[in-house]
Amino acid sequence: MPTVKVDNLYFRYPNGPDVFGGVSFEVGKGDSLVVLGPNGSGKTTLLKALLGLETPYEGGISLFDTPVARFSDWGRVGYLPQNTRLLNPHFPATALEVAALGLLGGKKFPRRFTRGDMDKAAAALDRVGLASRADRIYSELSGGQQQRVLLARLLVGEPELILLDEPSSALDNESRAMFFSILDAINAAGKTTVLWITHDMGEAGRHASKLLYLDGKMRFFGDMEGFCHSSEMGAVLGPYTQHTVCHRHDGAPK
Ligand code: ADP
Repeated sequence: MPTVKVDNLYFRYPNGPDVFGGVSFEVGKGDSLVVLGPNGSGKTTLLKALLGLETPYEGGISLFDTPVARFSDWGRVGYLPQNTRLLNPHFPATALEVAALGLLGGKKFPRRFTRGDMDKAAAALDRVGLASRADRIYSELSGGQQQRVLLARLLVGEPELILLDEPSSALDNESRAMFFSILDAINAAGKTTVLWITHDMGEAGRHASKLLYLDGKMRFFGDMEGFCHSSEMGAVLGPYTQHTVCHRHDGAPK
């Protein structure tokens, strides 16, 4: 069963031109799909459509074999939007409490945290390297640390599908390395599907197993090898950029 199946998707905003058309792809457990494309090519719009926040003009989206319009099992999906200002900067919660918020969606009334919940939140903070910051006030942490707390909040609910919009753009180097080592581990465990946007071609090459390239239409969908051998992608990106994606840091050109 694919985790996400997109079938011939067309999208336009009211009174606007097509943002993209002809987008079809499938991803399943263990896939890490990176969405690439120039500014304005509809990458964020695609993520929002997958979340049911925007309605496509034409075409179908299914999550876990259910059309997104009827999908209700949102506890299986974790989303980290771009430039995360999800929380009031003066929100007087600790890092641990913010991480625990990721468990609220799965709770029925009364929504109280148990000791077990706090243990899970502590384990999630440990996973993002912030165990020692658990009792610090969230708003007093650095931007990179806040982003990692939000990743812990996402991970604590153990989502099967993780959607990330430019996760590294606000991160310092240490947080970025930590962030991607976590994503790589999730990917390697093979139970989760990760779908993320970046404009960093090297990052895409190092951490994705599949690529989707949007540019008004779907220019490419496939695995790394197909991407690196695609003469169309070479023509669209230029050989230097294609090389940046395909030449991974182990020194071996792909
Ligand atoms: P990307 O993430 O690739 O930069 P976006 O999905 O943010 O692209 O935007 C795609 C296009 O849709 C852009 O031309 C943008 O201006 C337009 N757009 C985005 N959001 C809206 C909106 N809410 N209403 C109208 N147009 C929008």
